[in-house]
Amino acid sequence: MPLLDVDRDLTRHSYYAATAPRAASFPPLQGEVTADVAVVGGGLAGLSAAIELHDRGFDVVLLEAQQVGWGASGRNGGQAIHGLACDQGVIEAQLGLDEARRVWAMSIEALDLIRQRIARFGIDCDWRDGYLAVATNERKARELKDGVERLERVYGYAQQWIGRDELPAGAHDPRSGHLHPLKYSLGLARAAAGLGVRIYEHSAVTRLDAGATPVLHTAQGRVTAERVLLAGNVYLQQFAPTVAPQLAARIMPVGTYIVATPPLGAERAAALIPSGCAVCDTNFVLDYFRRSADHRLIYGGRVSYSTATPMNLAAGMRARMVQTFPQLEGVDVEHAWGGFVDISMNRAPDFGRVGANVYYLQGFSGHGLALTGLAGRLVAEAIDGDASRFDTFARLKHRNFPGGRLLRMPALVAGMAWYRLRDLL
Ligand SMILES: Cc1cc2nc3c(=O)[nH]c(=O)nc-3n(C[C@H](O)[C@H](O)[C@H](O)COP(=O)(O)OP(=O)(O)OC[C@H]3O[C@@H](n4cnc5c(N)ncnc54)[C@H](O)[C@@H]3O)c2cc1C
Repeated sequence: MPLLDVDRDLTRHSYYAATAPRAASFPPLQGEVTADVAVVGGGLAGLSAAIELHDRGFDVVLLEAQQVGWGASGRNGGQAIHGLACDQGVIEAQLGLDEARRVWAMSIEALDLIRQRIARFGIDCDWRDGYLAVATNERKARELKDGVERLERVYGYAQQWIGRDELPAGAHDPRSGHLHPLKYSLGLARAAAGLGVRIYEHSAVTRLDAGATPVLHTAQGRVTAERVLLAGNVYLQQFAPTVAPQLAARIMPVGTYIVATPPLGAERAAALIPSGCAVCDTNFVLDYFRRSADHRLIYGGRVSYSTATPMNLAAGMRARMVQTFPQLEGVDVEHAWGGFVDISMNRAPDFGRVGANVYYLQGFSGHGLALTGLAGRLVAEAIDGDASRFDTFARLKHRNFPGGRLLRMPALVAGMAWYRLRDLL
């Protein structure tokens, strides 16, 4: 199965891969095994579900096509942020205010869950408190401030407004934060395996026989389970196009890219972001950046709607970085990499079931670092007999992207060009 361009070319160049060596690997599945629950995908969603299921007494097998943390979970911007990718208004419009409040509270629980897991499993992943949303023009500053005030008034969620005479103005949230996502993912995999979850790497699921006890097929083995969780992100379609094609129509793979400078020294790095927070601007095609524990600037942004790696990726990203931080003129980038996010049409997460005993999690829309953890917990609750929180999300309606994958790309690219233009206004 050919890998997407970014995956083939860039994964190994990530700062994370260079600084989180894999101490151990897991064997491929060989032969026949049985389990209460089979999890497809060793990203944060699958690993979280595996841990939560094990905690509730289920016997779990997890199958990963590549290596755990290989997908978005081990490559992302490392920013663990409150809320969802979509505005709360999307949830309010569909489910009403009471349910929207429940969803918001779960997004905050997701942040607490990261801190709890780091403590419970002793995961060394450079966690740091604090997130700053910054507005780059007057109109956006007004919109951001209105949003912050509404969150406090309607959801009881307080953030500190940092008003300035000069832009950027911003909102500070101490409960959000940032971490080294590959160290965190590998830490969760180690923890899951330590608890007794059976993890198999290089074990792509290529077929699913539905039924009372579904059977998952890999190249050299089979898993028979009572329940299945599909947590394969955009890669599910790539490794197993026939498993649940109806899910693929509801998400779009969108490439996003990151660079890391060489270590800049503590003083110089601190001067770039004195608070040490993770920072995001409020543009629709947003830039996001933070300092690493070893005093680099990690700078993400730029999206692409083609699965090909953009030309001159490192140079283009470096130019964006220098635009934001002119004091980095002359500083090279040491790492450049990228990955795909699974955008849903309305940017709300897409959780649900395919038949009675196959669950799925997708549509994190670039905002899944924290929410995947909570999503795994919700699947475990549902499988354990209490689906109320899972079903709050499952009730959200999602539309297919029009026109199949090839047709929907140009329409989306045209749409994004408009949003990029709007960012400048
Ligand atoms: C560059 C980048 C930056 C991002 N920045 C942020 C950020 O700062 N903050 C934030 O909140 N979110 C961010 N995100 C999004 C976030 O990383 C994702 O929402 C989250 O990691 C999704 O986790 P996942 O477990 O669903 O998917 P993944 O981590 O992609 O894991 C899915 C796994 O399933 C495996 N798989 C797929 N199909 C099969 C199969 N058939 N058989 C076996 N295995 C299979 C894949 O190999 C993969 O390892 C970013 C994403 C990217 C790509």
